[in-house]
Amino acid sequence: MDGALSPVTAARDALEEVERRYATAITPLMESLIGPNDPDDPIALQFRPDARELITTPAERADPIGDHPFTPVEGVVRRYRDRCLLKVVSICPVYCRFCFRREMVGPGKTAPLSAEALDAAFAYIAAHPEIWEVILTGGDPFLLSPRRARAITERLAAIPHVKIIRWHTRVPIVDPDRVTAAFVDALHTDELTAYVAIHANHPREITPQARQALARLAKAGIPLLSQTVLLKGVNDDVETLEQLMRALVEARVKPYYLHHPDLAPGTSHFRVSLERGRQIVRELHARASGLCQPTYVLDIPGGHGKAPLGPCAIRAGVEGYELRGTDGAWRKYTPD
Ligand SMILES: *Cc1c(COP(=O)(O)O)cnc(C)c1O
Ligand code: SF4
Repeated sequence: MDGALSPVTAARDALEEVERRYATAITPLMESLIGPNDPDDPIALQFRPDARELITTPAERADPIGDHPFTPVEGVVRRYRDRCLLKVVSICPVYCRFCFRREMVGPGKTAPLSAEALDAAFAYIAAHPEIWEVILTGGDPFLLSPRRARAITERLAAIPHVKIIRWHTRVPIVDPDRVTAAFVDALHTDELTAYVAIHANHPREITPQARQALARLAKAGIPLLSQTVLLKGVNDDVETLEQLMRALVEARVKPYYLHHPDLAPGTSHFRVSLERGRQIVRELHARASGLCQPTYVLDIPGGHGKAPLGPCAIRAGVEGYELRGTDGAWRKYTPD
């Protein structure tokens, strides 16, 4: 023994260190989508721990989108006047390696909201009549039992100014069998309109099982939206994004946001440049239906909300303006 670590031992130690720092989990369905012997498989990249997560760059921060400064009571994040987040669950069925809340989600990171804290959160929402919409997020609120989900829905429905409950979840994609009829029924009431926003990043994630779960939600009259994170090696090319957006629309999901990746710790290997992101979005615009166009956004570090990044198709001309068509050419627009 000369004391030097073999490369195999060093690699195993690095992965153990990653798993000590960040929660790790993958569902059997996502595992089944991973091709054999491809270290760059886009599903594997999203869920399997990677030694590169130990690299933290100076720009990265534990709370990249600034939830903490906008937390008036435990479990609530309020950045906007008319809506707030309610985080009731701090665990997920999978742990995405690029997660923007990776320092807060997972076993042992954040305690689940106690009954008293939940009461205080509902009291806060009830005391602020300008709150029109409550967004259930986490963690993944689709891990609640139907009974607990119904209890939350009914308490929000009892607050007259809350009209919309929006559920943010990855479960219909990664563990679709959890979306049972009883669970779907627990998501809304006659007084409280539910929207469900799913998270999907690669066309392979839209499996037949996921489509069935989405159909159960759609048939209950729940409008479906999606959020996608733009990730290097997973979906940073227009062909992959186009296939994903078409698959979502075919499953009755309206693409809502394409997120530029946040500055979460240990995620630099996923980062795409803003120039590349804007170019891909322009290409997508040129080749796919308007139904397939999410809004490209970036959460401003520090908690100042989402900024739209999409390429701007208007500029000042010699007189009046110029507008850019999907063919890339600028044309004069001179009103009055
Ligand atoms: C992203 C976010 C929302 C939702 O914003 P929309 O643009 O309405 O989707 C609401 N509150 C907080 C704190 C957020 O970070
Ligand atoms: S499902 Fe969402 S909250 Fe959970 S690990 Fe993935 S990105 Fe993070």
